[in-house]
Amino acid sequence: PYGTFGLIASAVGSQGFGAIKAMGLYMSIVLLALLVHTIFVYGSAVALLAKKNPWWFFKGFAPAMSVAFSTSSSSATLPLSMATAQKNLKIPKSISSFVQPLGATINMDGTAIMQGVATIFIAQVFSVELTFTQLITVVLTAVLASVGTAGVPGVGLIMLAMVLNSVNLPVEGIALIIGIDRLLDMTRTAVNSTGDAACALIVAESEAKNEKAEKDLKTAG
Ligand code: ASP
Repeated sequence: PYGTFGLIASAVGSQGFGAIKAMGLYMSIVLLALLVHTIFVYGSAVALLAKKNPWWFFKGFAPAMSVAFSTSSSSATLPLSMATAQKNLKIPKSISSFVQPLGATINMDGTAIMQGVATIFIAQVFSVELTFTQLITVVLTAVLASVGTAGVPGVGLIMLAMVLNSVNLPVEGIALIIGIDRLLDMTRTAVNSTGDAACALIVAESEAKNEKAEKDLKTAG
């Protein structure tokens, strides 16, 4: 703690409070984007596609979300998130054990969101104006980089190098945000795990619907 205090004190001494303000703003934007994504995208997907109450979903999945938050690893949380989805959200084991491990490997919305915001932040720090085509490139490479991100702490930041490279931004920019990534990593991991559970719930609902339709067809026939 004393060392960190010394580093922060020297950074504030040389850069002024502007540096702290910019970092605070970056953190707030990432956290806000993650919150909006979780509530609106997952909430509406659960309500419209799985026909379930979003509050029931978030409340039922909360134990796994808190472990994802504290471990910063969707892979380490996987056993608990599968157990929680099966027990609290009543997702059949056959669906949960296929969708959630697949999601923990390739579905990382939280990571993609952080990479998008971080790229814009780094571009602004280096006074680089990104064109519309470059912004689209950032979106596409952030999605690809998040697919390639392993579900362990801090990897999203390493994969950010790929996104920065795609629009010719200096990879050294990562050093600017590495110090404040801990809390963001915890939050985006919770979002990543929640997204996988939401997908599993939607698949479970559509499978149940298909089974019911098949059964109705059989009884009618
Ligand atoms: N820690 C994240 C996860 O496990 C990956 C990352 O964005 O670094 O989902």
